[in-house]
Amino acid sequence: MALSAAAWLWGPLAWRLWRRANIRRQPFPPPWRETLRRRMPAFARLPADVQLRLKKHAQVLLAEKPFIGCAGLQVTDEMRVLVAVQASLLLLRRRGHFDSLRQVLIYPGAFVVNRQAPDPAGLVREERQALVGESWQQGQVILSWDDVLAGAADPHDGRNVVIHEFAHQLDQESGAANGAPWQSGAAARARWARVMAAEFQTLQQQLGQGVEGLIEPYAATNAAEFFAVLSELFFEKPLELASAHGALYAELRSLYGVDPLSWMNTSATSSALKH
Ligand SMILES: [Zn+2]
Repeated sequence: MALSAAAWLWGPLAWRLWRRANIRRQPFPPPWRETLRRRMPAFARLPADVQLRLKKHAQVLLAEKPFIGCAGLQVTDEMRVLVAVQASLLLLRRRGHFDSLRQVLIYPGAFVVNRQAPDPAGLVREERQALVGESWQQGQVILSWDDVLAGAADPHDGRNVVIHEFAHQLDQESGAANGAPWQSGAAARARWARVMAAEFQTLQQQLGQGVEGLIEPYAATNAAEFFAVLSELFFEKPLELASAHGALYAELRSLYGVDPLSWMNTSATSSALKH
């Protein structure tokens, strides 16, 4: 009885791990490599072991997650690869492959949604918003292809819609997005909560005084957006984030298990320091 219960519990997990190991053994197709060369110039500058791990994680994502075109968009391998490799930055040292994500929807460009928002008089207004990305707790990420391309083309502007929306997915794996993705260790979780709350409060105070710094005002919307915006900065502006917000940088380094500062070569680091 105990044995069959264990087999029932472990069977699907063992099957999934075996399947993923098989996928990782496949070669990364040359046309996919060509896509990275043309569309994601930062990829070639990453350390070789990071490149390899990104490709392997991306292969698993591409085998497991359906990509669906919206508003007439035909999804190509180029789109799938560019999304999967950028999303894999968040998985480098984490277990799992966005396991609650069911599908990725791609629109050709920014997409319009209708939202209900209460106004100060207590009436609910219908609002139309143009979005570049969205992440749903029910396992859906929605992206604008124009913005996926822009994010990959400029790796240092601090804006990357794929990192942003997949950071929300990580956050949503442990319930509603609250800016606290799951990590092991009660002490690590407590430290995360303390540092994030203090920095979030500081950001709101500074914005209230009209002071704008590295972290864009949108991050002050709530704890979930704060975390997603910080994830973009962590991977795209590690030097600036580490210099201006050392404690935040250390928390993200511990969460993601990587140190993007160490990926920058010394000449890039010293020239960035000069500006
Ligand atoms: Zn967001």
